[in-house]
Amino acid sequence: MKILSLVKAVPATAGGVESAERRASEFIANPADITALEEALSLRDLMGGSVIVMTMGSEACENVLRQCLARGADEAVMLTDRIFSGADTAATSRTIAEAVKYIGGFDLIFCGRKTTDGETGQVGPELATRLGLPFAANCTGLEYQDGKLTCSCLNVWGSEKVRLSVPAVVSFAYGINSPRLASLVGLYRANRAKIERLDSKKLNIAPENCGQAGSPTEVIRSFKCPFEKRSAVFLNENELEKAFSFIRGKMEEESCT
Ligand code: FAD
Repeated sequence: MKILSLVKAVPATAGGVESAERRASEFIANPADITALEEALSLRDLMGGSVIVMTMGSEACENVLRQCLARGADEAVMLTDRIFSGADTAATSRTIAEAVKYIGGFDLIFCGRKTTDGETGQVGPELATRLGLPFAANCTGLEYQDGKLTCSCLNVWGSEKVRLSVPAVVSFAYGINSPRLASLVGLYRANRAKIERLDSKKLNIAPENCGQAGSPTEVIRSFKCPFEKRSAVFLNENELEKAFSFIRGKMEEESCT
């Protein structure tokens, strides 16, 4: 089984992204992508085959791929080219789709549900659409049997089980497993591994179809949301009447009645 696991390098900040300027030391693997990678590694361990990690980003993202190799991925591919920069989700999914076709032979493509910076959750479904593959979103667990993949997926109503034929694209919810850590052997191997680089020429993508030129969306400014301070009122179980009149008062204040 040949599994592609997508990993986006995101800024190592818990809060917002205030600048598009990023330094190498600030990058980590998007947390949901590490969840997806663990699912890919577990399936490979069970079924045999290989896991290839892929990122689209600048040279500064190389370290993130090496971390994935250290955790147990077999190979790493980097989509890197100056003209890939400024890509929105449309240009990103187009470039990744071309790389998938270029490498070929994938049974499964795993990704995170969304990233901690752009947070659109669009790349997975866009990629599946571009490749004409079935897609399961927000997966929390999977089983593979007789060439079919059964995914448990969270949705707005609760959860559902979907069965997909392979090849397929699956996006994973964050935190559904305990990702393995890098082993010493893994670190040794990762430091020496050759990371394949693919650019627009190799992928045969015209400059007007990638990066900012191929992006209908442009991020003009990112900023921190003002944090609204809230206060709490604590009432005990003997103060139900007080609680009711407090809520009634609040509703009247907000003209909700
Ligand atoms: P998501 O769709 O949330 O990612 C889902 C999964 O796809 C990831 O978990 C990962 O597995 C995979 N993936 C995504 N990007 C990559 C990658 N580069 N390499 C490998 N795997 C990847 N673009 C828009 O089109 N619309 C917007 O509104 C928008 N807003 C943005 C806001 C901010 C603050 C920032 C920093 C960027 C924004 N972008 C937006 C640009 C967007 O981040 C990039 O296009 C990005 O490459 C993909 O979008 P995402 O981060 O939302 O990914």
